Amino acid sequence: MTKIKCICGKCELHLNDKKIYYSLFCGCEDCRQAAKWGERKGGKSPEKLQKLIYMRSDISKVKGKQFMKAYQLRKDARSTRVYCISCYSILGIDHPSYDNNVFMLIPFLCNADFDTTIKPIAGIFMDDYPNEIPKKLLNNILIYNNFKNKEKEKKLVSILANLKPTYKNAKGKSLQNLIKDLGKIEILNLKKGSD
Ligand SMILES: [Zn+2]
Ligand SMILES: [Zn+2]
Repeated sequence: MTKIKCICGKCELHLNDKKIYYSLFCGCEDCRQAAKWGERKGGKSPEKLQKLIYMRSDISKVKGKQFMKAYQLRKDARSTRVYCISCYSILGIDHPSYDNNVFMLIPFLCNADFDTTIKPIAGIFMDDYPNEIPKKLLNNILIYNNFKNKEKEKKLVSILANLKPTYKNAKGKSLQNLIKDLGKIEILNLKKGSD
């Protein structure tokens, strides 16, 4: 069994595939703003530099769906985050570019029953990171301060393409399916870059 649980324990996502396909550090303001918003609502205080992991979007069972709600930061947002509305853990994040193949998770902000110590392969959006760069964490991995250099971006896209799950049909439902089940996505209308 591979389970993602919220901190209060009301919500669970069970996954058919226990593999973590890849991991990144993200310095972007949206990941930070979404985590800080959860913290303000009573959720866990996020790590300064957040580690993201990517799992196959293949959910075998959903528990506590009545406590789950999907949110976007702004009207033009592309990421959709599923929170537990009791403890404000983030249970999963979808982005159109994941193509329903994977979804993103911030393991520090929930309880996963599997080993999440995988080493990130890159640090992305580090130009947006407001704190002192933690050199030790970013030692020996690819660093993307921004994505202005298209050649460099291509390199990361091709590395990730090789790490993504290759099988087509998931056995269960995807995070996108779950988000549809949850009904209307609430738009938070937070000002870009604010905390
Ligand atoms: Zn919860
Ligand atoms: Zn981010």
